[in-house]
Amino acid sequence: MTSTDRPSERAIAAAEAHSAHNYHPLPVVVASAEGAWMTDVAGRRYLDLLAGYSALNFGHRNRRLIDAAKAQLERVTLTSRAFHHDRFAAFCTELAALCGMETVLPMNTGAEAIETAIKTARKWGYRVKGVPDGQARIIVADNNFHGRTITIISFSTDPEARADHGPYTPGFDIVPYGDLAAMEAALDAGAGETVAVLLEPIQGEAGVLVPPPGYLAGVRELTRQRGVLFIADEIQSGLGRTGKTFACEYEGVVPDVYVLGKALGGGVVPVSAVVSSAEVLGVHRPGEHGSTFGGNPLACAVALEVIAMLRTGEFQGRAAELGEHLHRELARMARGGAVEEVRGRGLWAGVDIEPSRGTGRQISERLMDRGVLVKDTHGSTIRIAPPLVIGKEDLDWGLDQLRAVLAQ
Ligand SMILES: *Cc1c(COP(=O)(O)O)cnc(C)c1O
Repeated sequence: MTSTDRPSERAIAAAEAHSAHNYHPLPVVVASAEGAWMTDVAGRRYLDLLAGYSALNFGHRNRRLIDAAKAQLERVTLTSRAFHHDRFAAFCTELAALCGMETVLPMNTGAEAIETAIKTARKWGYRVKGVPDGQARIIVADNNFHGRTITIISFSTDPEARADHGPYTPGFDIVPYGDLAAMEAALDAGAGETVAVLLEPIQGEAGVLVPPPGYLAGVRELTRQRGVLFIADEIQSGLGRTGKTFACEYEGVVPDVYVLGKALGGGVVPVSAVVSSAEVLGVHRPGEHGSTFGGNPLACAVALEVIAMLRTGEFQGRAAELGEHLHRELARMARGGAVEEVRGRGLWAGVDIEPSRGTGRQISERLMDRGVLVKDTHGSTIRIAPPLVIGKEDLDWGLDQLRAVLAQ
């Protein structure tokens, strides 16, 4: 439907011919990017209101992060964990401090870190809690998104993510997200076997669903009482996006385990981590878990700069302030009738478009034609999550384009 030029068309056709079709990208072919803007192969500019699902919280090619990466590229990039390297200790120390925790286990992608958290919780259950071997259970929420591995999609409730991938990994109990009574019932039903509750403090892929007030604090209290680990998947919600370092902070909640990813790599390299106490992560012994690339020097150098940037509070402050503006503007659109519901915190919004205006995909394509890139999810919902470095004028311009598209 959209107006693509010749170079873009050629690149898209070649990609279609030689790649698996596990994505359905918007027909834009990016050639370069800076800050909140991307430029395609024909020289057209687009405002990025997706920010790589929050992997680009600090914007495209953030100068500090590029400089840190370049400096590290000139020294050493990869050692494997067979040897120590001189950025590793600083990375673990600084990340633990940012999280108010003791111990870090670095991986690369979010899914790997979630797998690591699951392995950790099970092992902690057997070694520390005394759960009978092979019986450990983990409670998760419906509509969750924690990644794409076999084990993770085994406890997905999204048929698209799950179908045709069985046999599935057992050991997970699914409860409705936001329902504290259901959580309590599941914890009581699994007393003795339940080792962890794994939740997104805000469900991103599900459409930026914020749980009811008191839910996270209630889960924290229930899990504390029962000696069950609370694992917060802050891969998308964490590291500034919501206006705080962690979305859990909105309810004064400190989980037992943080799972981090996306923005931790500064939009430069994949970096993820499980962060917890020495007791919990202490269950791992040499040879029992690992990753060739996890905690590599380049990853550590970039992530160290990310952590230093977060320590200033500047990005969290920006997300809170601009986020308030974003949500005020979206609420105004909702009063106009074109938008049914808006959810989110900080510079993060799930926007349910009134269905007669088009599907989320159609709205995304029309926005693309006007130079704005967003991503749809679940029918008529679009997600807005710009880089936290976006200028207020640019954000307003992007919102003007959304208004224009919705008025069509
Ligand atoms: C993106 C995401 C993941 C998976 O991260 P990958 O790096 O894509 O494996 C897990 N949990 C949440 C909440 C996410 O948003």
